[in-house]
Amino acid sequence: MHSWSFHQLGSFIACKARQAGIALIHVDPAYTSRQCSACGHTDRANRPEQAVFSCTSCGFAEHADVNAARNIAARGVAGWAVSHAA
Ligand SMILES: [Zn+2]
Repeated sequence: MHSWSFHQLGSFIACKARQAGIALIHVDPAYTSRQCSACGHTDRANRPEQAVFSCTSCGFAEHADVNAARNIAARGVAGWAVSHAA
């Protein structure tokens, strides 16, 4: 699996989601690892180490991957709301 390109992996996920009837929302991943999932503050300094997220504005601290996953999930919810509005 390590040799798959992200595009190919995305295509497989989209295909499997479609087959299973699961909605798939694409989100912009930019700065999800630097943005605080608690207050929204975005700064390179929020991530002092690979696995550490520590917000320089509000003090929120979390594993960096968990914080980034929360940001991606929030963007997915926002994208879902926009795509299903009205
Ligand atoms: Zn914060």
